[in-house]
Amino acid sequence: MDCGLYVVATPIGNLGDMSQRALEVLLGVDLIAAEDTRHSLRLLRHFGIDTPALAYHDHSDQRALARLTDCLEAGGSVALVSDAGTPLISDPGYRLVRQVQDRGFAVHPVPGACAAIAALSASGLATDRFLFEGFLPSRPGSRANRLAELQRETATLIFYEAPHRVQDCLQSMVEIFGGEREGVLAREITKTFETIRRGTLESLAEFVAGDHNQQRGEIVLLVAGKEKQDGDIRPETAALLERLAQELPAKRAAAVVADLTGLKKKRLYDYLLAQKTG
Ligand code: SAM
Repeated sequence: MDCGLYVVATPIGNLGDMSQRALEVLLGVDLIAAEDTRHSLRLLRHFGIDTPALAYHDHSDQRALARLTDCLEAGGSVALVSDAGTPLISDPGYRLVRQVQDRGFAVHPVPGACAAIAALSASGLATDRFLFEGFLPSRPGSRANRLAELQRETATLIFYEAPHRVQDCLQSMVEIFGGEREGVLAREITKTFETIRRGTLESLAEFVAGDHNQQRGEIVLLVAGKEKQDGDIRPETAALLERLAQELPAKRAAAVVADLTGLKKKRLYDYLLAQKTG
């Protein structure tokens, strides 16, 4: 195994998502740096891995860092894992990766589960551009300020949210983005009670308020980016739409392009009507 730091993704719920390479790396390294050793030891034991583990987070003291870099200096290899998913994504590791690189050692990613990407991939929202926001501030005023800053963002927005705050957060989103904006609640991804629900923010807020179970477990919230005004339909989208409208009824052409781009069907249809009437 090559010397260096391996940043190893672990499952976000379903242990079947542990990759073969992740197992080989965790078995092969000399030391595992874990966000919470008790938590990670359960996972490692499940897979029969008994590599020594050490607690590491971004505020660990110099001794923990020294032990990791000593191991690298001696030609060894270290794996970094977090409690679940990809380390550094709303998890510790950023400082360690930089310091290891600055000391001239290689850092190798071992990719796997990440709640943000898993949620996006199954959301039905546009994926061509997205903005990962991580956790919003927990104080209502600060959260509202941050949402207001994002109000005009046209990329799909991805947030991590704590279950006890999801209802208030959705309510805030309704107030700031408007209840008609589309969003997705992605809860307990890969687990028994997995829920992926797409709807207007208003309908999601009602859904969560009306079912206490939706305020439990692990949650990703996604919000469709702000739509550009009619005149802003991209030239390539307009060309596709116009070409399709030569083959299909305008409504059908608009529906196909809406599926492909995430734009509103009605807006695309209105665009075609406007074209027709000159
Ligand atoms: N590093 C992790 C990753 O790659 O996704 C994220 C760690 S962050 C501390 C934990 C947050 O991720 C949770 O509060 C939740 O918002 C989200 N999350 C993690 N697992 C999830 C799951 N199975 N379903 C939905 N959200 C999840």
